[in-house]
Amino acid sequence: MKTGTMQDWPLNVWKLIDHAAINHGSREIVSLTCEGQEVRTSWRQVQGRAKQVAEALRKMGIRQGDRVATLAWNTHRHIESWYGISGMGGVAHTVNPRLFPEQIAYIANHAEDRVLFLDPTFVPLVEKLAQSLKTVEHFVILTSREHMPKEASVNFLCYEELLAGEDADAPWTVVEETAPSGLCYTSGTTGNPKGVQYSHRANVLHAMAANMGDVLDIRSQSVVLPVVPMYHANAWGVPYAAAAAGAKLVLCGPNFDPPTIANMIRKENVTLTLAVPTVWLGMLQHLEATSGDLGALKRVVIGGSAAPRAMIEAFEEKYGVDVCHAWGMTEMTPLGTLGSLSAEAAELPRAKQIDLKCKQGRAIFGVELKLVDDEGRELPRDGVAFGRLLVRGPWIVASYFKGDGGQILDADGWFDTGDVATIDPAGYMQITDRSKDVIKSGGEWISSIEIENLAIGCPGVAEAAVIGVAHPKWDERPLLIIIRKEGAAVSGAEILKYLEGKIAKWWMPDAVEFVDSIPHTATGKIQKTALREQFSGYKLAA
Ligand code: ADP
Repeated sequence: MKTGTMQDWPLNVWKLIDHAAINHGSREIVSLTCEGQEVRTSWRQVQGRAKQVAEALRKMGIRQGDRVATLAWNTHRHIESWYGISGMGGVAHTVNPRLFPEQIAYIANHAEDRVLFLDPTFVPLVEKLAQSLKTVEHFVILTSREHMPKEASVNFLCYEELLAGEDADAPWTVVEETAPSGLCYTSGTTGNPKGVQYSHRANVLHAMAANMGDVLDIRSQSVVLPVVPMYHANAWGVPYAAAAAGAKLVLCGPNFDPPTIANMIRKENVTLTLAVPTVWLGMLQHLEATSGDLGALKRVVIGGSAAPRAMIEAFEEKYGVDVCHAWGMTEMTPLGTLGSLSAEAAELPRAKQIDLKCKQGRAIFGVELKLVDDEGRELPRDGVAFGRLLVRGPWIVASYFKGDGGQILDADGWFDTGDVATIDPAGYMQITDRSKDVIKSGGEWISSIEIENLAIGCPGVAEAAVIGVAHPKWDERPLLIIIRKEGAAVSGAEILKYLEGKIAKWWMPDAVEFVDSIPHTATGKIQKTALREQFSGYKLAA
């Protein structure tokens, strides 16, 4: 016999929420909503309401494969919409509200979204955009009747009214596991955003992998607060993984301020939380200023940009929280590597463990990594050689939505992440740059990220960015751009002195400039393109 003798059980994402409803039905989902309420619901309730969403969409004439967009914060209603859309065969398209309005319109038109679910926060934005959203037939506000706008230029539907009366036991739509279930566009710092269409299979496999002990380690006893928004790379898969595990979820809606998040962490006994470094920067400052603590928090996962050493040390040493660095991207559903300690690393002295935690971690089962040079030759895993990072696996993009960007895999099926990295013999990968941000000085590469992360450890420095500026002899040299901490007067010379001995001499920035703000992308990363523009023509002393 050529095949095994096991059952064909398609990996549909609704199976995750069915599992949660049946086996962890009373486990809570706590949400802060846009209306300023705290709503406590459960996996069982969310499953029933997701089925009502599915029924409502079927009645609207949404068919398998159609895109239904969400413009929403992390709330129970957003989770219900996700499962409801995918559970009736639709494709849940999360739109990042922090994009420019023209980009949102481009994305919605490109995706041909037929319905848009939006939080009340976005009513003014959608009223402005509605005319340019060519394919959207229905706009549904994720709220109840009393919070609907009294007057509006768009014929908005009310989510709670739409669900009322629908069958909370309606069957899900069974689709092939390779059918699409979600869609997310990359931020597209250059050119138009490109869509990544996730399959049911990719999401389910990713959820199972995310729950492994060395990955997010989510269990039924876990209480998980994803600060990372559901519109940013699926909130790193947490809404799926938490359902598979039956964990409690804490969702903060439109609130990203450190006091609210810290309060929810303490009040709800959160054990795991996930966010980009800028969020944690604010959190550490808040905790310091208020002498606050982090309650029962065990682990914080930091990803999206590199976590500076000072941040990792502060969480571990001052607050007793295990920091886990994560790396991934929209094109990878998104998790690729996690920085949990290996058996050997667990025996190392503390300082060496922190060294490893500064790296982005080891490959998760299901993700293959490879480093190559500019000619495509494989580089050694020696922790020194750095090159382009390629990936392969069942939750990694094979092509962009509608074929944008053409063929994106090489002949052996590898996807070029656009990141530059090293991999050490134990498998710890370290991002040294994005390939377009790396500084090329005299034919050698300088890692902007490494300098930034060190500079942020210098007293008086709040934020640091390094870009390459043109140099007559060396092609490019590093320019260090600094935001000082409030009230600090640290000088350029002092910062350079601080860096001395920590990086190779030829990596030392040629100049330091002070600014009041550094531009960030819609997903919280330093916008190097804008900085390069701001400092174009910058003259370094010869
Ligand atoms: P965007 O749409 O903002 O590009 P992604 O989340 O897809 O959103 O961005 C992925 C990129 O973010 C990666 O290719 C990498 O450059 C960067 N990144 C993600 N995690 C880390 C990390 N832990 N350290 C450094 N860079 C990271």
